[in-house]
Amino acid sequence: MLTLSNISKTYAGNVVALNDVSLHIPRGMFGLLGPNGAGKSTLMRTIATLQEPDTGAIQFDDIDVRNDKSALRRTLGYLPQEFGSYPRTSADAMLMHFAALKGLHGTHRTQAVERVLLQTNLWDVRKRSVDKYSGGMKQRFGIAQALLGDPRLIIVDEPTAGLDPAERRRFQNLLAGIAEDRVVILSTHIVDDVAELCPTIAIMGRGRVLKAGDPGKFMADLQGKLWTRIVSKRDEEGIRGNHAVVSSRFKGGGIEIRILADTPPEGMDPAQPDLEDVYFTTLIEHGIGEPVD
Ligand code: ADP
Ligand code: MG
Repeated sequence: MLTLSNISKTYAGNVVALNDVSLHIPRGMFGLLGPNGAGKSTLMRTIATLQEPDTGAIQFDDIDVRNDKSALRRTLGYLPQEFGSYPRTSADAMLMHFAALKGLHGTHRTQAVERVLLQTNLWDVRKRSVDKYSGGMKQRFGIAQALLGDPRLIIVDEPTAGLDPAERRRFQNLLAGIAEDRVVILSTHIVDDVAELCPTIAIMGRGRVLKAGDPGKFMADLQGKLWTRIVSKRDEEGIRGNHAVVSSRFKGGGIEIRILADTPPEGMDPAQPDLEDVYFTTLIEHGIGEPVD
């Protein structure tokens, strides 16, 4: 289990990126949701010991992370948001190199590389140069390098940005498969990435944790408070003036709006809450507003 206590970070220019963040992150997949600028990458880099917070403590199982960075690094797999450029080297040669950096040698190294190539479904293309890989293959390669050395903590920061729907689904399944007995933290601004996969989530906004826990419970909390209707563009404006609109999207030649209200608004049907409703209502509650697609 990973425990963050009162982590804060202010960048030069008085940019408050993390504002007293405390979180308990259990084994399995953990989804960290938040709009751009929420502080997700700062938090991921801080846990990965790549940068220091101004205040706060981080404990991973028996490791006091801020006081024993090397112990954390030995059991960490990290896929940063920006991986940088990919050299014109084959996937297996690069993984052999990364494996050596992680302290693996001899047959241990060869076997570890084989295992992660198979796990990420890259075995058949292992001789191909990584810079020629598709977006989805590059991200799977990123997971392959993160898995080397069998880390107990894996951090992946916005891994599905730029993937097509089929690649995204495949990548989500890969993550779910490796999460069984490790802590896997997936940061994303895409609700769909965490909706099916993560038994525990946190929603961040403006450097704070706005909500953390069981997404099923958050959806149940909205039960009976969410209403929907398909309206015309002209009607939408009037409705926005009178109701708390959670989201709106084009559908069936009109606009499907979703509204938060304790009693049924005139002419509206009850809606089944989903995680996107949880995300939008949480941001709205904290004055962060409806994110634009
Ligand atoms: P997210 O990953 O959720 O988009 P970030 O952690 O990247 O959020 O950024 C949080 C805030 O900190 C933003 O306002 C961002 O502009 C700022 N920020 C991030 N990195 C730096 C940096 N190295 N120096 C100054 N400001 C930064
Ligand atoms: Mg980020």
